[in-house]
Amino acid sequence: MTHAVSGKVVAISGASRGIGAAAAREFVALGAKVVLMARSRDAIVELAGEIGDAALAVPCDVARYWEVEAAYNAAVDTFGSLDVVINNAGVIEPVARIEEADADAWGQVIDINLKGTFNGARAALPHMAANGGTIIGISSGAATNALEGWSHYCSSKAAALMLTRCLHKEMADRGIRALGLSPGTVATQMQKEIKASGVNPVSALNWEDHIPPEWPAKALAWMCTADADEYLGGDISLRDEGVRKAVGLI
Ligand code: NAP
Repeated sequence: MTHAVSGKVVAISGASRGIGAAAAREFVALGAKVVLMARSRDAIVELAGEIGDAALAVPCDVARYWEVEAAYNAAVDTFGSLDVVINNAGVIEPVARIEEADADAWGQVIDINLKGTFNGARAALPHMAANGGTIIGISSGAATNALEGWSHYCSSKAAALMLTRCLHKEMADRGIRALGLSPGTVATQMQKEIKASGVNPVSALNWEDHIPPEWPAKALAWMCTADADEYLGGDISLRDEGVRKAVGLI
């Protein structure tokens, strides 16, 4: 059976490694075209080269609205539409307790994790006005749990969840499917940085406790199908056994 993303154009931020790169491979395997966005030009160009004609690499800092706009314009010029956006780009460094945090560095994380998510959604809407589309944020348990040293990250993910809710409220009746994926802990560079920080219980987890990035990648593709419609306007947790079953992971 043809998958819902077959033939669709999917823009993925943070596609240079980790969950974003795994998602790009998964979507292409299902017949989609992917636009790879990240700051590391070499990494996304290499991944696009590996994938072939179904991938377009566009170097982009999601904190800069005009760069996101330009990336989407390139997507439409190359592939003819923009149907799905995965707002995956995110950072956790610098991990610091509030009393030691550098104010500018704290704000930079908000610029990427929150404003970058807004930019990714906002710039997509004109392209989705005619045919609708799906806009997915990568959320976290940190959106609803306070963790030591992560005030920037927890605040940004909590606000990004609210952004998903607002997007759903304003745009659902115009065919925009807005939802978020809370993946649990995933074996990526971000978890290496968390482990190196040694700050809170997440940093004490064993590497084997983390799921592989291919799991959230499969969940993201499933979230583009009508099977996930009951979750529109909120977060889906990949720790949920029912969701893992629906996605086909267990
Ligand atoms: P990762 O391997 O560190 O990947 C992060 C990605 O974000 C990289 O591709 C990075 O590329 C990109 N990025 C960072 N800043 C960017 C910017 N300003 N503009 C464009 N791209 C930017 O981490 P990951 O685990 O795959 O993280 C992906 C998402 O999952 C994040 O939103 C993260 O918060 C979320 N998440 C992860 C976990 C986990 O356990 N790993 C758990 C919950 C949620 P460049 O550096 O090349 O720009």
